[in-house]
Amino acid sequence: MSQLLKGKTALVTGSTSGIGLGIAIGLAKQGANIVLNGFGDHHVAQTQIEQLGVQALYHGADVSKAKDIEDLFGFAESNHANIDILVNNAGIQYVANIEDFPVERWDSIIAINLSSAFHTSRLALPYMKKKNWGRIINIASAHGLVASAQKAAYVAAKHGIVGLTKVTALENATSGITCNAICPGWVLTPLVQKQLDDKAKAQGISNEKATEQLLSEKEPSLQFTTPEEIGELAVFLCSPAANNVRGVAWAMDGGWTAQ
Ligand code: NAD
Repeated sequence: MSQLLKGKTALVTGSTSGIGLGIAIGLAKQGANIVLNGFGDHHVAQTQIEQLGVQALYHGADVSKAKDIEDLFGFAESNHANIDILVNNAGIQYVANIEDFPVERWDSIIAINLSSAFHTSRLALPYMKKKNWGRIINIASAHGLVASAQKAAYVAAKHGIVGLTKVTALENATSGITCNAICPGWVLTPLVQKQLDDKAKAQGISNEKATEQLLSEKEPSLQFTTPEEIGELAVFLCSPAANNVRGVAWAMDGGWTAQ
């Protein structure tokens, strides 16, 4: 097995499930130690990572809170886990027209999907600068590049994180620190399963039919991207071949944003 990232430590926010877990496993397979974060049961994820022969720490910071993120970095430091690779992945969704959008949902989507990446980046960069090496990967979305109705907060946050990615890349452009965004289309995770369940319920159709509709509305390939595929793209962005890939928003969306 290749050990491209042996000796590095990666923090992946929201890595107890879905895409974050797929990325954590992808990086761990390359020898990176992992700091897991997210809600729900973390033991399964932690065991999966440890079985790959690397260290898996866990901190349950609520990344909507700057103070929790500071605690997470303090925890990593006290465990000698200095963050070489930062993957800002934690995210939530809520679907409603703007006039019906609950204010607290707007605030929490902006906090979790956007502001958290500012806080983690500001805390990770000083250490990366000392080493003159670092990777920041922001998990945006096809919704970082184009919009859909009823997703005001999500689309605003994801467009915002694409902007933050470019600024972070530019501020570090002459260093060994790169920052890029990955923009997935549909990935079948708990976040999307909820949207499928809601769609099936609202229209009185089967889950299979709802899946068919969801994919054909947006994604020309008619296929979900998998967390494993996104993990492999993250590994590439951490590799020496990607030393000069800076500030891109890399769509992995079955052709969604090519239309
Ligand atoms: P998911 O629901 O499976 O995972 C989200 C993770 O974030 C979980 O580990 C959850 O515990 C964590 N999380 C949520 N709120 C948190 C908080 N306040 N503090 C810390 N952790 C928190 O969702 P997913 O589909 O894997 O989404 C991961 C990322 O990928 C999100 O940023 C999402 O916007 C993005 N994305 C997903 C899709 C998709 O189709 N699933 C497409 C494009 C982008």
